[in-house]
Amino acid sequence: MPSFKTLDDLNDITGKRVLVRVDLNVPVSDGKVTDATRIERVAPTILELSAKGAKVILLAHFGRPKGGPDAEFSLKIIQSAVEAVLDHRVQFASDCIGAPAAEAIASMENGGILLLENTRFHKGEEKNEPDFVKALAANGDIFVNDAFSAAHRAHASTEGLAHILPAYAGRTMQAELEALEKGLGNPTRPVVAIVGGAKVSTKIDLLKNLVKKVDALVIGGGMANTFLAAQGINVGKSLCEHDLADTAREIMVEAKKSGCDIVLPVDGVVAREFKAGAANETVSVKSIPVDAMMLDVGPDSVAAVNAWIGKANTLVWNGPLGAFEIEPFDKATVSAAKHAAEETKAGKLVSVAGGGDTVSALNHAGVADDFTYVSTAGGAFLEWMEGKPLPGVNVLNKAK
Ligand code: AMP
Repeated sequence: MPSFKTLDDLNDITGKRVLVRVDLNVPVSDGKVTDATRIERVAPTILELSAKGAKVILLAHFGRPKGGPDAEFSLKIIQSAVEAVLDHRVQFASDCIGAPAAEAIASMENGGILLLENTRFHKGEEKNEPDFVKALAANGDIFVNDAFSAAHRAHASTEGLAHILPAYAGRTMQAELEALEKGLGNPTRPVVAIVGGAKVSTKIDLLKNLVKKVDALVIGGGMANTFLAAQGINVGKSLCEHDLADTAREIMVEAKKSGCDIVLPVDGVVAREFKAGAANETVSVKSIPVDAMMLDVGPDSVAAVNAWIGKANTLVWNGPLGAFEIEPFDKATVSAAKHAAEETKAGKLVSVAGGGDTVSALNHAGVADDFTYVSTAGGAFLEWMEGKPLPGVNVLNKAK
């Protein structure tokens, strides 16, 4: 049972004004939305509320305006893209508080959908100012938060509102929280985590949290070099943060204390140039040439990763095992991703993945749809992996 209220707890909302916090922070080029994934993710909540006869009022931020109106960051730009995804008329109000919002809401029909202008056009949004929260709340009877990706921020529209209006999780928020619960909250063991990507420095908190929670931690990508070097292995010209050797050793000590197996590469694919098709060879990590860099983990290492995926009941994944954007250094990432997808489809694995490049890596492997859950939330997903409390989620839990 979730510890937060969902749309299932919302009865008889015909004519009610429902403020729905959504993530519409989509990429735009030349005034056109280039990837509507985020709009698609929140569509079920919006359409469900509309079908139940509510007046659906959308709150969102867009880009990083400096606390005042700025045409470049107007949500008006994406109004038609939202209409296209929803296949439903969407009205627009030029301010998220005050007369423009109130007038637009007053003319709404039951089941109507209204997009309010960028919440970040007001300084009170990011400061979570009580007066701004009140001004937002004046437009609604109920608050639904469907923006997990903004839940790591205690802003007025992500956190403040839930203190003063009855608060519910939207369908996307609900799916995300249920998946995360299965991934690390209350997982079926054994749990294996794969952490890759470029640098240890951006993932220290994440690694420290994971070693306490998982049975095996696979470290791949550029960050594996830092761990190898910390054990006295010569990594040649590989991307490596030598100044983090102590941190890497600390993490290994912590892992041992917690009974977490650290799985480091035993072989790697090395090249002299960071580019697609670069001449390469597979070597043991103990014999990386001084003038070469490891751009992917090797076949023996992938076999070990895949063996862990086979043994595990739960997989949590952030970061590619190699430089997957340039072939052939995508091989390990693609192999492990496909194996995890097969195990998931066979009902043997719960697989939860997220964080910017991870989504592109799984898309590159063609398996994103086969994972149990792929989070597009970026920062919030990483903070969850770091074990940090997410203000937007905590306040929903409290509301129950
Ligand atoms: P992150 O954003 O930290 O998840 O890092 C993702 C980036 O790490 C991708 O752009 C990869 O190309 C890069 N990466 C992965 N493995 C390596 C490697 N062995 N050497 C250099 N870069 C890598």
